[in-house]
Formats: sequence, structure tokens, C-alpha cells
Amino acid sequence: MKIAIVGAGVVGIATAYELAEAGHQVTVFEKNAAASEGTSFANGGIHSHSFTLPLTGAAMQGNRLSRWLQSTRELSKARCTRPANMRWLWTKSASCSPDVVLERSQFTQTMARWGMEISDAWIAHHQWEVEQSDGQLILLSSDDELEHYATALQALKQAEHPYRLLERSELDALEPALHGAEGVSKAIHIPGDRVMNCRQFALLAKQAAIHNGVSYQFNAEIASISSHGKPQLRMHDGETASFDQVVVCTEALPGQDVLKLAAHIPTARIDSYALSVAIREPLNAPRSAVQDHQSGITISRLGKRLRVCGGAELNPPTNAAHDKRMVHKLFRTLDQYFPGAANYPAGTQVWRGSRTFTTDGLPLVGSAGLPGVWLNLAHGANGWTLATASARLLSEQIAGKKNSLPCELISPQRFHS
Ligand SMILES: Cc1cc2nc3c(=O)[nH]c(=O)nc-3n(C[C@H](O)[C@H](O)[C@H](O)COP(=O)(O)OP(=O)(O)OC[C@H]3O[C@@H](n4cnc5c(N)ncnc54)[C@H](O)[C@@H]3O)c2cc1C
Repeated sequence: MKIAIVGAGVVGIATAYELAEAGHQVTVFEKNAAASEGTSFANGGIHSHSFTLPLTGAAMQGNRLSRWLQSTRELSKARCTRPANMRWLWTKSASCSPDVVLERSQFTQTMARWGMEISDAWIAHHQWEVEQSDGQLILLSSDDELEHYATALQALKQAEHPYRLLERSELDALEPALHGAEGVSKAIHIPGDRVMNCRQFALLAKQAAIHNGVSYQFNAEIASISSHGKPQLRMHDGETASFDQVVVCTEALPGQDVLKLAAHIPTARIDSYALSVAIREPLNAPRSAVQDHQSGITISRLGKRLRVCGGAELNPPTNAAHDKRMVHKLFRTLDQYFPGAANYPAGTQVWRGSRTFTTDGLPLVGSAGLPGVWLNLAHGANGWTLATASARLLSEQIAGKKNSLPCELISPQRFHS
């Protein structure tokens, strides 16, 4: 089949790779001048099969009002005075009770693990060299904070996937360079999580797909997607092209002017910051990923660089200035936990990226409800973790095959009631 993909981030690239492998003729349209310039540009790189990244998969106790309040506390800038934000948080608070979240954690952990296997198979097949390291350590300052991870840990336990609860005295063996952790009383170590360079992987997958016949068109912004029997794309210059199938991998749900969907799907944009800095002394740097629960900041090692991610601004105005306090906090946290690790003069980059969240935190993977149009987007905090698995699931659906995993929880149809 002749298939168009809109968006060349890690999700669009992985989808192109899968569809080309399945024998389709694939063209990717990207509005930027190069691939992986959107949210996939400088993420934390954590492949979190435990599904414990900040803003992910935590069950909330209490009634809906108390869950609403807990959700607002997760955000560094909530702008709760805006009715649309309040509505989104209110809808979200309806779907984070422990039983519902356990089902979601079990599914997403399975999907993430399967995605790791797919990524590993690609790496082995092409003999790619991708920067990576094993394990994630989550630092906790009290036993109460452990509660936040209860559901994710329960799901890991049920699937017999290892994790360890550590006392502070045991941290040295795992992260010998960790300093300034006086406030840390415990930690969770998840050996199956890992750090892997998302952008490097995406660019390697893009190149491999080109060898497999995929064509990439850059500076090609899609102005509208319609379907009257067969899907059609209209470019910004007015040119149109017809395809047998179109997969929308634009991270955010396109506006109704671009893609008119039958049902309203409530999504929100949450912006976060990433600080990238060269490593001065490898012995002073983390070995893999360290997450500070209290601040929601993650520090990961990507080859010769460190990446520090944090902040959560709900639907900030486009072109809003950087939140200087949050950016300083990223620097401070890195210097507190890993003093002497960073080589700031050798190059420091501060980047802000946007992630799209549905109200249940799960992506939209499946039919858009229009003939031949598919969605693979809104992966929230875990788009890198889930990219290859959601690409494979979507390719199976386009082929009309039985899915390798049940897809009801991520189907866009779940919002069609
Ligand atoms: C600070 C930060 C840290 C993160 N850390 C992690 C992490 O540790 N682990 C993890 O799993 N995930 C992490 N994420 C999330 C992850 O980066 C994203 O979920 C993932 O990159 C999404 O990939 P994507 O391909 O869907 O989106 P993108 O990379 O944004 O790609 C979408 C592409 O679509 C293009 N596009 C949009 N509209 C059009 C149009 N009309 N026409 C043509 N092209 C269009 C865009 O230009 C863009 O290139 C993080 C995100 C941020 C911001």
C-alpha cells in the first residue's frame, strides 16, 4: 500500500520503519527541515519499562476533589485559573484511582518491555552503536513517597520483574558518585529500566528505513488531512496527494482545521525543560538514570553528556519565556547530587519540549475514525519508551492482523462515548 506518515519524530520514524518492513511504500512528511527536531530532540532518554517517569502512572487515593488537588501539585505551573486547564485536570482526576491505574500499569509495562525487545532487535540486526546504560534509581526522602510508586511496583511484582528497595547506605554501590543525598532516606532501584539516546536511535532508524525505500520530505507542513473513501493530504502550498493510508505522528493531536475528528479527545500540553551538558569527569557522573522524587527531576547519562530534565507547565502560552527558577533548579540539582560532573564551559544547552497528555496518560494508537486515517501520538512522558511498540501495533492494525497486545486501552475509540 501507499502510506503517508505525518511527523518525523521518533514515533513517526519507528512507524515508517515498521511499515516499510511490512512491504509498504512509505513517504514521511515533516514540517521541520530535519528529523527528530520536535519533542524527540533532547529528552531524558529513559526507557522506563517500570513506567515510573515523573507524571506517569501514579494512582491517587481519596475522592475526586482530592485527586484533582494532587494532580495540580504535580505541576510546576498549573495555570488553574484557565477553565480549559481546570476541565482537563478534573477529567483526569476521574481516572486515576488505584484499581484503574493498576490495569494501565500492567498494560504499559508489558508494552514498554516489548518495545525494548523490538528496539534491541533493530540494534542487533543493524549493528548500531547507541549510547546506553542500565538501571534507574529513584531517590525518596520519606517512606510516604514510596506510596506514589505502589501501583507501578505492584505491577512489576506481579509480572515478576525485579526491583529493589534500598536504604541510603546501599546507594554507594550503585551510584558511587552520588553526593548531597542527606535528605534521601530510601531509594527504589529498577535494573530493567535503562537510558538510551533517543535522537541517535531515531536518526539511525531513519537511515535504515531510507535503505528500505522510505522517502522523507522535509519543510513539508501538512495543512489538512481529509478522507472521502481515500485519505488525502493538502500541503501548505495547496498541493494535494492521495494515499491508501495516512498515519498521523505529530505528537499533539492536530487541530480540527487540520484533521476533523468525530469525537472530542481531551488532551493537554505539558512543557518541561532539559539541560544537556558535557561530562567533565566520568567518575563524578551518574552511571545511568537517577530520579529525585521530590522535585520530579531526572538526571541521565548519555555517552559523554548528562541530561537533566524537569518542570511541568500545563498549557503555557506558545513562545512563553523560560521559567528561570525551574532552569536554575536543574543546574542546582545536578551540582548537588553529582558535583564536579559537569563541564559547563564545554557547552551547555537548555531546551524546552512539549508533551501531549490524554486524561488517562495513555497514547492514542489506532484508527482516527476516518477511512484510512490512523493516529499514533500523545505518548505523554513515555514516547521514547513506547515508540517501537506503538509502531509495531499500528502496523499490525493496518495489515488487519490480530494485535500482539490487546489495544483497547490505547485505542482513540475509548474517548468516543
Ligand atoms: C524534557 C522531556 C523529557 C522527556 N524524557 C523522556 C524520557 O526520559 N523517556 C521517554 O520515554 N520519553 C521522554 N519524553 C517524551 C518523549 O520525548 C516524547 O514522547 C517523544 O519524543 C514523542 O515523539 P513523537 O515522534 O511523537 O513527537 P515529536 O518528536 O514531537 O515528532 C512529531 C513531529 O511531527 C511534526 N509535525 C507536527 N505537525 C506537523 C504537520 N502539520 N505537518 C508535518 N509535520 C508535522 C513535528 O515537526 C515533529 O517533528 C520527554 C519529553 C520531554 C519534553
